[in-house]
Amino acid sequence: MNILVTGGAGFIGYHLCSSLLKKGHALTVVDSFHPYYEPALKQARVEALQQSGTFSFFRQDILDEENMHALFEREQPEAVIHLAAVPGVRGSLHEPITYVDIDVKGTVHMLELSKQYGVKRFLFASSSSVYGERSINQPLQEDSVNLSVASPYAASKLAAEVFCRTYTQLYDISITSLRFFTVYGPHQRPDMAISRFLKRLLDNQPLPLYNTSSVRDYTYVDDIVNGIEAALRRMGGYQVYNLGSGKPVGLMELVHTLESVTGIKANLIVEGAQPGDVSGTWADITAAREELGWTPQVTLEEGLHRYYQWWQSR
Ligand code: NAD
Repeated sequence: MNILVTGGAGFIGYHLCSSLLKKGHALTVVDSFHPYYEPALKQARVEALQQSGTFSFFRQDILDEENMHALFEREQPEAVIHLAAVPGVRGSLHEPITYVDIDVKGTVHMLELSKQYGVKRFLFASSSSVYGERSINQPLQEDSVNLSVASPYAASKLAAEVFCRTYTQLYDISITSLRFFTVYGPHQRPDMAISRFLKRLLDNQPLPLYNTSSVRDYTYVDDIVNGIEAALRRMGGYQVYNLGSGKPVGLMELVHTLESVTGIKANLIVEGAQPGDVSGTWADITAAREELGWTPQVTLEEGLHRYYQWWQSR
């Protein structure tokens, strides 16, 4: 299939593109190397991808109207996998307009181009943050979203989901929103807790913990890639799926697992909860299991082992 991946130089994008290339898909990859974190990491991922196969790469902003039209005209993608976004909750508290521009307007621009150029399948990278603050005594089901979210990032993802649903209702385009739950693994974004913790552990620096009773559903990146590919195979109408491990893990359990994987005892500094962060996430993955035939394979311990091995081999 001829697939356009936006945000292909990002953490998840890198893994997705490398898997799609191995499966023989024709790929067009767009990424602006947004400076949310070091563009050099994104450049390095593109160079690594270029070792694994041939694809067209464009360092281009998805909001660049003229060049994006030219790209759709030239490449005629059959499917769009839209990962490009400014990620992260904290940044969105400081620069909400950037999140509206890229995460909302950028998504609408991709939907509009897809409509105009006859793309029939569109996958949108949404987030567990659309569930907002919940008491985590049972897993979060797809239809339990309400309008109460905790950050401008979450609001942007929710708004973009609403646009996706609207485009399916109005036009002949199948769209699936995939809600990723805290993704980790090799090439992980440096701003995320697991990468920050590992770096600090190895540098013998204390780990700042913001909310020791918080809980997250951590998902290994290969499982996310398998979920994206499964969703791409089974599209029709508008669909929403949680992609998570389905196993919530407390912050202290995460720290202890990292200690056991690295053999290093952590020195902890407990700080207050941060605005924008929710206290818990836990994915109900029944729909993805039953409708996509998808089951996450990698346990947290195994995933952290793989991540640590990759870190040491860099
Ligand atoms: P990432 O920042 O590594 O990747 C996003 C990529 O998009 C970056 O390479 C960036 O340069 C690119 N980009 C940003 N603005 C752009 C623009 N205007 N034009 C073109 N490219 C642009 O993040 P990631 O962790 O790989 O996340 C990928 C997607 O998954 C994002 O949409 C993110 O919101 C979503 N998501 C990620 C997680 C996670 O745990 N990593 C969880 C939930 C949702």
